[in-house]
Amino acid sequence: FSVHCTPLVDEMQKRMGGLVVISDVTQLRRLENMRRDFAASVSHEIKTPLTAIKGFVETLSTGDLDDSEEIRRFLEIIDKHVNRLAAIIDDLMQLSRIEQENEFQQIGLEPARIEDVLQAAIGFCGESIQNKAVDVRLSCEDDLSGTIDATLLEQAAVNLLDNAVKYSPENSTIRIEALTADNEIQIRFTDQGMGISKKHLPRLFERFYRVDKARSRKLGGTGLGLAIVKHIAQAHGGRVTVESELGQGSTFTLHLPV
Ligand code: ADP
Repeated sequence: FSVHCTPLVDEMQKRMGGLVVISDVTQLRRLENMRRDFAASVSHEIKTPLTAIKGFVETLSTGDLDDSEEIRRFLEIIDKHVNRLAAIIDDLMQLSRIEQENEFQQIGLEPARIEDVLQAAIGFCGESIQNKAVDVRLSCEDDLSGTIDATLLEQAAVNLLDNAVKYSPENSTIRIEALTADNEIQIRFTDQGMGISKKHLPRLFERFYRVDKARSRKLGGTGLGLAIVKHIAQAHGGRVTVESELGQGSTFTLHLPV
């Protein structure tokens, strides 16, 4: 709580009493803390690849390395870190774009077929699906359509499918089901992957939250994919939920208004 006191005086400057204003600043403090944590995370996430790039560039620029194979390996590492930085910046820009569009209610809602959006997402992830040899099965209620921003919804589906592929073993099955239930459109992504332990579930949709940082980095993750999904669902007036069993697999569900 914040407390402000002001003395009340009459026209003769005689003290008549006081005015005490007590305001509940919990929400304000929470927002301030979130902003501070977010700025600290962004700096940390960007500094890590930058420090690595600087180190390798400094070593290369001494000119002491004469092994061309080693020089090539260093350049590849620099390239990997540059790509990582670019991915973080792309995801951050996308997050802030969605937030802004949502705030000004500018997202492009139009009637569209859900199956078309999901097919497009599967097509987009084609390469990683093939590399992992996972079997992606789509089942969609006949003629299911919604008032959606197809580009944003495809992005959310790509992020969920990409995670399902990333965190699943080779040759496993990923099911995507779209249906109407409980007076909403539900799009479920179920994998047979490593699953997530219960203690991580409440924070999973926070920016930069990962269960295993090193693994996420190795797989090219930015830790922003699920935060983007959450914002896209909210921009549609919906939400995203997760059910998971460690070692058994996970189901992420997008819930959208009919
Ligand atoms: P990342 O870029 O690290 O994948 P996300 O925001 O997409 O970031 O996901 C956050 C974390 O949630 C991941 O680092 C991973 O630990 C966990 N996660 C997301 N999807 C799955 C899944 N389908 N199976 C297991 N873990 C998952």
